[in-house]
Amino acid sequence: MAGTKTFTMIKPDAFADGNSGAIIKMIEEAGFAIKAMKLVRLTAENAGGFYAVHKERPFYGDLVKYMSSGPIIAMILEKENAVEDFRKFIGATNPAEAAEGTVRKLFAKSIEANAIHGSDSDENAAIEGSFFFSELEKH
Ligand code: GDP
Repeated sequence: MAGTKTFTMIKPDAFADGNSGAIIKMIEEAGFAIKAMKLVRLTAENAGGFYAVHKERPFYGDLVKYMSSGPIIAMILEKENAVEDFRKFIGATNPAEAAEGTVRKLFAKSIEANAIHGSDSDENAAIEGSFFFSELEKH
C-alpha cells in the first residue's frame, strides 16, 4: 500500500525569486497537509550528503553548488498516495517537459534550477524527512 508522507524542498532559485508563498499555497490547495517545515541553508557538505545517490552523475558537483547557494524550505507533507501524487503535482525534472499547471512548469528555470524537490519513493521520503527533522518536529 502506498504511504501517506512525502518530503519536499523549495529550492534556492524559487526561494530567491520570492516564489515560496505561491508554491506553498499550491501545495495546500492540492490537498497536501504540512506536517513539518523549516527554512535552512545547506552547506556544500550537507547538500553532497543529501544527494549522495547522484555522486556518479556528471552534474553532481553543479547540483551540490546550486543546492548550497542559498536558503531552501524543507517540508514533510501528508496526503493519501503522497509520493506519486506529489511527483505528478511538481512535474518532470526538465521544465521543458513538465506538464501545464505543474510547479516546475510555472516556476523552474532549467533542468538544474527546477524550483522544487519531491521524494521518489516512500523509503526515500522517510530517509529525506529524517535528514532535516527530528521525531519531535514531525507533527
Ligand atoms: P528529480 O527526482 O526530478 O528531482 O530528478 P533527479 O533525481 O534525476 O535529479 C536530482 C536533481 O538534480 C534534479 O531535480 C535537478 O535539480 C538536478 N539535475 C537532474 N538532471 C540534471 C542535469 O542533467 N543537469 C543538471 N545540471 N542538473 C540536473
